[in-house]
Parts: sequence; C-alpha cells; structure tokens
Amino acid sequence: MLVAKTSDDRIISLAERYSRKGLEMLQNNVKFYCPGCNNPVSLKLGQTRKWHFAHFRNTTCFYENEPESDYHLDGKRELYQWLQSQHSEPRLEYYLPEIRQRPDIYLPNKTSPIAIEYQCASIPPTHLIERTRGYFNKGIQPIWILGGQRLKRKHGSFTLTTMDLLCVRTAEKTSRSSPNLFTSPYTSLFFCPRQKSFVILSNLNTISSSQFLADINVISLSRATLERILHPSIVKAGSHFNKAWLQSKKNKRLAAMPFQNRSEQYIRSLCYKQGLIFSAFPPYAGLPHGHNILISTPSYIWQSWLILTFLFNKKNHMLKVPVVIKAFQGMLDQGLFQMRQMLCTKPSLTSILRGYFDQLCDLGIMVSVDKKTYRVMIDERWPYQQMDQLFLKDKLVLDKLEGMVRGHAKT
Ligand SMILES: [Zn+2]
Repeated sequence: MLVAKTSDDRIISLAERYSRKGLEMLQNNVKFYCPGCNNPVSLKLGQTRKWHFAHFRNTTCFYENEPESDYHLDGKRELYQWLQSQHSEPRLEYYLPEIRQRPDIYLPNKTSPIAIEYQCASIPPTHLIERTRGYFNKGIQPIWILGGQRLKRKHGSFTLTTMDLLCVRTAEKTSRSSPNLFTSPYTSLFFCPRQKSFVILSNLNTISSSQFLADINVISLSRATLERILHPSIVKAGSHFNKAWLQSKKNKRLAAMPFQNRSEQYIRSLCYKQGLIFSAFPPYAGLPHGHNILISTPSYIWQSWLILTFLFNKKNHMLKVPVVIKAFQGMLDQGLFQMRQMLCTKPSLTSILRGYFDQLCDLGIMVSVDKKTYRVMIDERWPYQQMDQLFLKDKLVLDKLEGMVRGHAKT
C-alpha cells in the first residue's frame, strides 16, 4: 500500500514526492498505521522493490486485498497522478468505513461517487463480486481496471479469465458511425504503467468459453480523459471482424481432433444418433451477435442444438418462444450449456435468443408470426456438404446479415 497514518495523525502518501532521506527521518520519529485496520505497518524503503507500506506478518488486514507487486504499485501511482489532472479531489487508498472497503482510488461526488480498482493479480471471483456489491450497495460506481500484463493475445483473439470477465462493462454511448449487427457493447479496460497507456478492448465477441474477438485501442495517459474511461463508447466492429469470425468457424469445422467439452460431446452424440455429420452444421449455426458473449457455450454449439431440436425436419412447424426458453434452461440446469457470470448491465436470456431468431428471420429460415411464435420456413435436413461449399455459405450468410443491417439503417 502507498498510504499510511502516522502516530501524530497525519496521512503519508508515497504518491507524493518524498526523498529517501526525508522518509528515513520520518520513520525515526513516528510510527505508521494502516488507515483501515489501524494495525501498525512498516515502511519498506528497499533498493530493489518500490517503496511501500506493509502489514507485519502476524497481522491480518481485512482491507488489504492482495499482496501488491511493483507493477501494481506503479500503476496505482500513475493512475492517481493522472487523475489529479482530471478530477478535483481523487483520494488514494481511501478507506470507506461504512462498507469496510478501501478502493485504490476514490473519486468523491455527491450524486455519483466512483471507486477505481486496479486489479493486477488474480483473485477468487467471489471476492471481486463481494467488493463490487459492497460499492453498489453504497451507491458507488466501481470501475475495475485490469493490469496490462493480464492482456493475452493469441492468433488475433484475446484470452479473458472468469475474473477479467467480471470487470467487463457495457458501453452506453454509440460512436458516430452506427454499429452493425455484430457490434457488441461489451468492453474491457486495462492499464499498463510501463507503457503509461490504457488499453481498451471493445466490441467483445465470444468464439470459445475463454477466447474473444475484440477491437483494441491504446490510449496514452497524456491523451486519455476521465470521461472516455468512465463512459466507453460502442465501437463499430472493424472490417477484420467478419474475416476473423469466419476463420474461427472454419477451424471448428476442420478440427480433426476437436477439443470436446461436455456440450460439444452432447451435440455430436445427437448428430450421431440421426446419422448426421456434426462438422457439416448448417451455415446459419454459429452466428455472431452483440450479446452472445453472455452465453459461455460457443454459438456454433448452442445454435446447432436449437436447429436439431426445433428446426430439423420441421418445415411449417410453429416454434413457441417460451418452449425454447424452457428447453434452453433445461440445458443450463444440466450443465450442458453455461451462461457467463458478468456484473455489467445485460439483457435476459429471452432477448439473447430472440436476437438469434431475428437473424434467422432475416435469412428466411423462419418468419415471425406474433410476439411469441415463429414459423419454420425451410426443410432443414443437415445434409453433408463439401467443406469448401460450407465455407462459402458461411461467408454468404454473414454478408447477407450485414447487408440487411445496412439496409435497415438506410430506411
Ligand atoms: Zn490494515
């Protein structure tokens, strides 16, 4: 930690410019205490590690959330110094006695106070949920900023852990260009003290339970504004998005030794029983949508299941939305599908599934009869097709959906 109380009731913040000599003199004259638990703490003025205060080994502190690395201490100090230029009175490691929490930085405000938490180490998701709820209960908006070293990129996609996903926020504002169908409002914020930059992942779309496509934006601290950090905008999916999405779909179809989780095994066994080849799933299974991220099971799996259960060999049948929701819920209850645990504002399962039904209507697979009913318009038999043909159809389906959105936007 960077802040301590002294025995003569002063607050010492190591984010201020102190000399080693000044701090050594202070150390000889006063004792230091944790502003949260009031236990004595020691001032660490090591040669290698960043200067900080630390609890003694035998004390337990309710407010100290994790051991802090130099990276964390640096980041917290950088963020605090930047906030001094952005806000009238940012408070470093400010202790909030009513909720017994101490955010890294607190931005007081009569109507909408903000707690900024800089999270570098992995902590159990339950701890992060508890801390978030603590702030919400007090009318404080928490903003979780992840340590830049947590950002993992692999072949153009990003890995996010369960904890990272709990820090995801929903962008409220729309950028000037209108978003397309695959644009997602979910956004993730990182800060790297080495590069002195924020990294914003916007337009998060899920391709597997832990892999995401996203647009990446790096903003140096000198150019960043608090407004932009607090209120991220929805960014239109870049032109690379469709290509990356199709590539991931292609990989799923071609996987010779697919990594099979329980849900994929289940769908494969359904196909096997009916003499169907799973990898030839219809091109309109595995569609991206801005809210699909909320379902942790990849879309090519749960959408294939919907097709097998409610569309296969069912031309002219009526599909009742409550029936589908109930069946989907059953899959969730059995642990065959999973929803993601996220703390941001999010739509219901019904509206997520409706998003897919609307796409199927746009593609002429179904038509909407009334609010709760759709009619199946095609005779789906899941035929085996050459892979090259399927890749082409995957692309046509995506192009068609995109074209429809552009059409809607014009009218
Ligand atoms: Zn303490």
